[in-house]
Amino acid sequence: VTQGLSIEKPLNLGMIDAILLRGPNDHSFTKVPFSWNKNREAVIRVKCSGICGTDLKIFKGLMGDAPFPFVPGHEWSGLVEQAPAGYEHLIGKLVVLDNLQCCKLCVYCQSGYPNLCNSLVEPGISTNGAFATHVKAFPEHLHVVPDHLSAEEACMLEPLAVAVYALRRLPVHYEDRVLIIGGGTIGLLIGQLARLSGAKEIILLDHHHYRLEIGQSLFADRTCNPLKVDLDKAIGSELPNKVFEVTGSSEGFQNSVKYAKPGGSIAVVGYAGPKQTSISTADIMCKLLTLIGVLSPTNSLGEAIDIAVNRRIDLSVYLDHTYPLKDFDKAFKIAEKRLNGCLKAMLIP
Ligand SMILES: [Zn+2]
Ligand SMILES: [Zn+2]
Repeated sequence: VTQGLSIEKPLNLGMIDAILLRGPNDHSFTKVPFSWNKNREAVIRVKCSGICGTDLKIFKGLMGDAPFPFVPGHEWSGLVEQAPAGYEHLIGKLVVLDNLQCCKLCVYCQSGYPNLCNSLVEPGISTNGAFATHVKAFPEHLHVVPDHLSAEEACMLEPLAVAVYALRRLPVHYEDRVLIIGGGTIGLLIGQLARLSGAKEIILLDHHHYRLEIGQSLFADRTCNPLKVDLDKAIGSELPNKVFEVTGSSEGFQNSVKYAKPGGSIAVVGYAGPKQTSISTADIMCKLLTLIGVLSPTNSLGEAIDIAVNRRIDLSVYLDHTYPLKDFDKAFKIAEKRLNGCLKAMLIP
């Protein structure tokens, strides 16, 4: 019994251009073999792929179970070139992937937490991804991008889906004071969604002036740079009851616990890698704080597409740093060092 899986040999596309990560801090632009199972998988020509904070950690070897050697890249849009029987309608369409290609059978999948599934096939995380000319995916997890979104805008749907999931885990209402710690791509998207949700006040913290300016132009009532101002004074006596920690840094998490209003909630969105943080657990107890983990865009890609298509938030600020795939090192450096006012470095294969 093959249980629906093909026993045919995978088809071979030959060699494709890709960024191959062999191990921590060891990558190059090179040719890698590409094959796929024509009965189960679609082949997508990558139009655009984004570098995110998680990639910065993956490249440095700070993500525990990276499957070296492999091709990273998990935020992307592309055109379907090959699709298995039943999915031919996808061919030629611009698509994005619900990256959590899960088993659909385990207790987590069955209870609405595919992000906890132990059998995830996540291109760019657990298997070859989209820092390449082509990527493969299971077609049932692909979403067609409506015509009037560009490939670059579509590339923002994955991070937007993370922000949508963050607000589903920690919903924002009109009476809420919101603190966002970290004004990178996800932090700014969360800010825009919090504004859309009607938050009473939104404060944004970041170390980079340009990010605070963008936050101010998009949603923030107040911004502050913890390197430059006294946070106690800047945040004041009306403490935020909803905090989104989007830096993954010790400082960010400690500030979350310190500045959350008693009875408030903290969404932990930033990925810390193996780093440990010491916090006052007594504060969590005595302030009756609630800690909420946020992992991966989860059942939220459809909502992200709807928000983007209806222009309910501004994606334009993320779109002005695109580089050819072969200039990956330049793009990576700009993303890593936050140069040139970059929020999102994108690669065009
Ligand atoms: Zn990411
Ligand atoms: Zn599962």
